[in-house]
Amino acid sequence: MHHFTYKGNELHCEDVPVSRIAQDIGTPLYLYSHATLLQHFRAFDGAFSDVAHLTCFAVKSNSSLAILKLFAIEGGGADIVSGGELYRALKAGVDPKKIVYSGVGKTGEEIEYALRSEILMFNVESSQEINLLNEVAGRIGKRASIAIRVNPDVDPKTHPYISTGLKESKFGIEIERALEDYTVAAGLRHLRVAGVSCHIGSQLTQVSPFVDALGKLKVLIEKLRETGIAVQYLDLGGGLGITYDKEEPPHPDEYAEALKRELHAQDLTVILEPGRVITGNAGILVARVLYIKRSPEKTFIVVDAAMNDLIRPSLYGSYHAIQPVRRSERRMVKADVVGPICESTDFLAKNRETAVFEPTDLMAVMSAGAYGFSMSSNYNSRPRVPEVMGVGDRYFVIRSRETYEDLVRGENIPDFMGE
Ligand SMILES: *Cc1c(COP(=O)(O)O)cnc(C)c1O
Repeated sequence: MHHFTYKGNELHCEDVPVSRIAQDIGTPLYLYSHATLLQHFRAFDGAFSDVAHLTCFAVKSNSSLAILKLFAIEGGGADIVSGGELYRALKAGVDPKKIVYSGVGKTGEEIEYALRSEILMFNVESSQEINLLNEVAGRIGKRASIAIRVNPDVDPKTHPYISTGLKESKFGIEIERALEDYTVAAGLRHLRVAGVSCHIGSQLTQVSPFVDALGKLKVLIEKLRETGIAVQYLDLGGGLGITYDKEEPPHPDEYAEALKRELHAQDLTVILEPGRVITGNAGILVARVLYIKRSPEKTFIVVDAAMNDLIRPSLYGSYHAIQPVRRSERRMVKADVVGPICESTDFLAKNRETAVFEPTDLMAVMSAGAYGFSMSSNYNSRPRVPEVMGVGDRYFVIRSRETYEDLVRGENIPDFMGE
């Protein structure tokens, strides 16, 4: 469910015509629906309301301050993977006691920043990180709460680039070795063993891999108890999928029910790290058609948005639905939707059966709220596009369009090169 719907023939974000926003602030732009974000957060968080839990929104899926603030107001926490994300989460008012820190490559500086910020827990991913964490905590007189991110070796049956819980993955510690590492960690003075964590992948459309992973984690928790290590938190990561095209992912209720059944009266606080399922269908990328190029082989719809704005199609071959902002009776064509970037992989849609577009038409690239703006770059020296939040019949620019000055901020030409 989302609030990007046609009223008459005009695509609206809630009660605002998308064309009006595009007219006012130019294209391309990211547009989010406040009501959709709220509804998705509440549907997910609410599905766990009858168990002790904490919903830590995965900041990397959409790092906008206004969006982080929205979930903070709803009582959500944050799952972060860098010092920069910690900075954003704190700036948006997320309670540090609701922040968990994941990632295979935390630096000493980032660890110190997180310790001083008094975050809830570090999800550690290697034995060397355990030692570094203990060392940094000792040096600054803190005690770090940790969960070991274990790799449960389950196949999430998703795109290989977004699978993270298989044996050959760089993430986590093999579940067979975790017991050893827990024993070491439990003996370190500046650490407190607080939990067990995992994250098996992204865009999962079945519940069974989640249930399998949870089953394996339960066995580990039992073994830990037997050796006298009691954990309080069970962090199941994120990964619940959404509908981009014809996928039929489980509703958060179904996902929660399956997990709760498997959990069965464990005296644990469950941590969830949803990203895509909250923001994915709550945002679109709005572009304007520049040119139609026809060759004997192909039709290309050249738009003003590109792979630097939305890299998912180029990076993963992902599908995003393409919709006209103003509907009309149109012929259908098979076309590639491409951007202005000098790369053959710069496409937003490939061999797509779509309504005919004409130059100056507005186009909506759907389901772009997760891993859209947050993965954008300045490649080809393209200023990053603005982010807008639609709220009922109003809208707010939550990030301005970058300027050319923004592009060169911090750059210097060494003096020896002259003026
Ligand atoms: C990316 C990531 C998430 C969020 O994944 P989604 O598929 O967006 O829900 C959660 N936890 C960790 C550790 C991640 O790396």
